[in-house]
Amino acid sequence: MRLSRYFLPILKENPREAEIVSHRLMLRAGMIRQQGQGSFSWLPLGKRVLDKICRIVREEQDRAGALEILMPTIQSAELWRESGRYDDYGKEMLRIKDRNERDMLFGPTNEEMVTEIFRSYVKSYKDLPLNLYHIQWKFRDEMRPRFGVMRSREFLMKDAYSFDLDYEGAKAAYNRMFVSYLRTFTRMGLQAIPMRADTGPIGGDLSHEFIILAETGESQVFCHRDYLALPVPGAATDFANDGEIDGIVKQWTTPYAATEEMHDEAAWAAVPEADKVSARGIEVGHIFHFGEKYSKPMGAKVMGPDGKEHFVSMGSYGIGPSRLIAAIIEASHDENGIIWPEAVAPFDIGLINMKVGDADCDRICDELYKAFEAAGKDVLYDDTDQRAGGKFATADLIGLPWQVIVGPRGAAAGEVEIKNRKSGERLTLPVAEALAKLGANA
Ligand code: ATP
Ligand code: MG
Repeated sequence: MRLSRYFLPILKENPREAEIVSHRLMLRAGMIRQQGQGSFSWLPLGKRVLDKICRIVREEQDRAGALEILMPTIQSAELWRESGRYDDYGKEMLRIKDRNERDMLFGPTNEEMVTEIFRSYVKSYKDLPLNLYHIQWKFRDEMRPRFGVMRSREFLMKDAYSFDLDYEGAKAAYNRMFVSYLRTFTRMGLQAIPMRADTGPIGGDLSHEFIILAETGESQVFCHRDYLALPVPGAATDFANDGEIDGIVKQWTTPYAATEEMHDEAAWAAVPEADKVSARGIEVGHIFHFGEKYSKPMGAKVMGPDGKEHFVSMGSYGIGPSRLIAAIIEASHDENGIIWPEAVAPFDIGLINMKVGDADCDRICDELYKAFEAAGKDVLYDDTDQRAGGKFATADLIGLPWQVIVGPRGAAAGEVEIKNRKSGERLTLPVAEALAKLGANA
């Protein structure tokens, strides 16, 4: 992509309304545009990151055996009356009437709708286990929308829903999502810690929030230092092997970890002082087992191997891709801007032509641009006539993992400079070596 043809509305000044660094940097880097309270448009750079995040989420959901669907944003109140949640949900739910005065709502979540789909088609235990997910916009009329996309009113959510014959099956489904989440967040360059979370009025011991430690987090969390070094399951993990998956979950739930609501002072006191990590955290995912809470009132049942009908045992599993972008920036930035982990960076390489119009610079930039593209790299080529200082500042602000800097003196000698955004390390190399170093051929 040539920057001269791109839409990257960089802000020079710090936006006053932004209280935390991720919000500030997302606005300054031209990733998002606020449209109203807790509502944002995604501009080209932000949209690219959102897509990369969703791709990782999808790949890991699919790997764990979940199937992607897409449900509408607007739902009928009728369904929510069946589960009893229409009256319970309160002011967070945006209620709407259609032209026929029918009660509708903008979905804050989809348990009812997915249960309706399930009960319409699935009648036998032989069709289980089943896990359906979608990635769809949600609306919650939050009491205090703030921190940009971290807590907005309209936000993207991946929500998965599992259906099983009994508790044992549901627990295995829960475990698969648990392990899938560990992989998902690690692939984004994040260290997420599963913490025992409040199950609310439903009870049971099966709910975990996945928390990123960050000073700007909204919750107080407590965990054992061991979590910071636990190995994350690799791509070869066999999600069909319940025993293997259960082993991983055991390992990741043995050391102490809890959010404030679930904090147990006695258990905490037993953790050696040097191993205690008490910090602020950002919730990026939440998994939940709730058994028959929806299947029973909504009549979602299957014939079991015993020839009897059973209400299915369900769970739901959420990840917030839009909040994740803010969380990644909170965890990875410096005073000059964002530092994207490679897997979610909007482009792999920023190619900077320091002197557009200089024959050597233009020629070498064209050559590099073509070679990187041919190698499947996403390149943002700064071919604008801005001065070099401004180009460097922009490149640091938008945080692409690598910068390739082409200046007139080096270009005349066939050399370019490459800079790693994260380490700050710079190398001057002949063009062919620079290409090879960044995974392309001359
Ligand atoms: P919170 O306690 O932060 O309000 P929640 O418990 O209401 O979150 P869930 O219903 O579990 O959230 O939603 C699943 C995921 O959706 C969360 O883990 C989070 O990543 C994301 N999410 C929830 N609310 C918001 C919001 N207002 N803005 C952005 N992302 C959100
Ligand atoms: Mg909430």
